[in-house]
Amino acid sequence: MARILVIDDSKLILHVAKTILGKQGHQVLLAEDGKTGLQDAATEHPDLILLDLILPEMDGYQVCQRIKKEAVTSDIPIIMLTSRSEPADKVRGLKMGASDYVTKPFDEGELMARVNIHLQIRELHESLKERNRQLKEMANYNGLTGLYNHRYFQEMISKDFQRAVRYHESLSCVMLDIDHFKKFNDTYGHQTGDMVLKILGGLIKKLVRDSDLSARYGGEEFALLMYHTASKKAFLISERLRKAVEQHKFQADNLSLTVTISMGVASFPHPEIADAKTLIECADKALYQAKEEGRNRVIVF
Ligand SMILES: [Mg+2]
Repeated sequence: MARILVIDDSKLILHVAKTILGKQGHQVLLAEDGKTGLQDAATEHPDLILLDLILPEMDGYQVCQRIKKEAVTSDIPIIMLTSRSEPADKVRGLKMGASDYVTKPFDEGELMARVNIHLQIRELHESLKERNRQLKEMANYNGLTGLYNHRYFQEMISKDFQRAVRYHESLSCVMLDIDHFKKFNDTYGHQTGDMVLKILGGLIKKLVRDSDLSARYGGEEFALLMYHTASKKAFLISERLRKAVEQHKFQADNLSLTVTISMGVASFPHPEIADAKTLIECADKALYQAKEEGRNRVIVF
């Protein structure tokens, strides 16, 4: 069932259209002049509009143009209604964005066929839009961990760093790496390794704040972005995550395993950090130092 708006100054045409479309189970809205039709199109957002071209005051061409110009109504398909007694320029209407036309008096079968075609096109268009939105979103994620991917992290940190500079906000970057993961993979196999990465992704998501951004940066490396967060607070959140990972029993293939992580924190503002690239590099240096000093710890740059 669809919602169809019929705009026509003839009460007879409105009645006939309502009868034919109503029989098909559609909900039919009626407007007797262009101005009312425009208002209804904007507030009711119908799936399809049948529009008479010859109307008193504001004519159908003007109505068509306005509907196609407004962002809220521009995607609603319009079928023009033309009659033999009222000569109308169909080409002009099509150029203004109408999808099709039907001649009055209606042939019931033809009206239904045209209405159905344009409803189907609209439905396909909508599902395509939704699919595109989903694909776009999926392209930002890492499938295994459910966290954002490397590319998205880079994109965001570049933007967010500029914003932090402009608005004098603090911004922290945390690099995080699983300790001795290579040895872990060699001992238990890559499948178990992947399970650990997946579980760790879930832990990270649970333990960082909703406003923070977390990404899988590389193999066993993760990266976090903490907004409006100076180094002291970033350290505390990182330390909380480090402890939680250390205590967590990773269940994989009937094994109950433990892992530890090392973390490096770098925060803006900092005299040595002037761009996003350096922010990442400094977090990386701190991570390296955490490894050097014996792992399973958080170091602030
Ligand atoms: Mg008319």
